[in-house]
Amino acid sequence: MSDNVLHIGNHLSASKGYLAMGEEAVSLGANVFAFFTRNPRGGKAKPIDEKDVAAFLAYAKEHEIGPLVVHAPYTLNPCAAKEDLRRFARETMADDLARLEYTPGNYYNFHPGSHVGQGADKGIELCAALLNAVLREDQHTMLLIETMSGKGTEIGRTFEEVRAIYDRVELKSHVGVCLDTCHIWDGGYDVKDHLDDVVEEFDAVVGLDNLKAIHLNDSKNPMVAHKDRHEKIGEGFIGLEALSRVTRHPKLRHLPFILETPNEHDGYAKEIATLREMWAK
Ligand code: FE
Ligand code: FE
Ligand code: ZN
Repeated sequence: MSDNVLHIGNHLSASKGYLAMGEEAVSLGANVFAFFTRNPRGGKAKPIDEKDVAAFLAYAKEHEIGPLVVHAPYTLNPCAAKEDLRRFARETMADDLARLEYTPGNYYNFHPGSHVGQGADKGIELCAALLNAVLREDQHTMLLIETMSGKGTEIGRTFEEVRAIYDRVELKSHVGVCLDTCHIWDGGYDVKDHLDDVVEEFDAVVGLDNLKAIHLNDSKNPMVAHKDRHEKIGEGFIGLEALSRVTRHPKLRHLPFILETPNEHDGYAKEIATLREMWAK
C-alpha cells in the first residue's frame, strides 16, 4: 500500500450491504473500513448479494477504498474447553472465509480466545489447530490474529503468545497480525511514551512484515489494566498525540488504521479528519 495517504476508517454496519458501507466510508472521509460478518452473537450471516458486491467493488476501485479489515464475531472462542464451542467457532470462521472469497484480497481478523482455565499453552495449541482446520491454500483472504488485553483468561495478551500461535500455523502466507492499541496498552505495552520500543519489540518477537492492520483506540484505563474498554481518541489514557504518533510512525504509517471507538457517525468523521490533519503535517 502506498504511504502518501493515511488509510483510516471505522467499523460500519453491514446490515445495508457492501455498497452502502462503501458510500458511508466515503461520507466519513474514510478509505478503509471494518464490519462484523454477522451479529456479534454469531447468528446466521446475511446471504451474499452478488450484484451488491459487484457494485461495491467498482465503487471501491473508483474511490480507492481498501483493504477491508473484516472482524469475526467477538463471541467466538477458538480455544474453548468445550468441543461444541470450538466447533461453532471453526464452522463460523470457515463460513466467513468462504463468503469473503467474493471480496478477495482483504483481511479477516479474529480474537484468539480465552483458555478458560486450561492454561495459555493449551489455548495457543487449540487456536492454532482451528486455524489449520479453516485455512486453505486457495483462499484469497488473510487471517489476522488480534493482540489482546489479557482480560480474564484471554490468550494473545503478549507478542510472544501471538508469535506462538503464528508459529504453529501451517499456511503462514495466509496469516498475519492486527495490533489493537487499546489492547496492548491495557496489556502493558507503553504506546504512549515508548512507541519506538514497542515497535522494536514487536519486530523482534513477531516481525513487522507480519503486521497488516492496526485497531486505533484510546483506552478508558491506565496501562496494564487488562480491561479492554475502548475510549474515543483523545479522551482516554493514551491520548490524541500518542495515537496520532502511531499513525505517523515510519514503520506503521502505510498500514490500514481502524477506529473502534465509542462514536456515532459525526464522532467518527471528526476523529478521521483530526488524524488526517495531523498526519499530513
Ligand atoms: Fe477485536
Ligand atoms: Fe480491536
Ligand atoms: Zn477491544
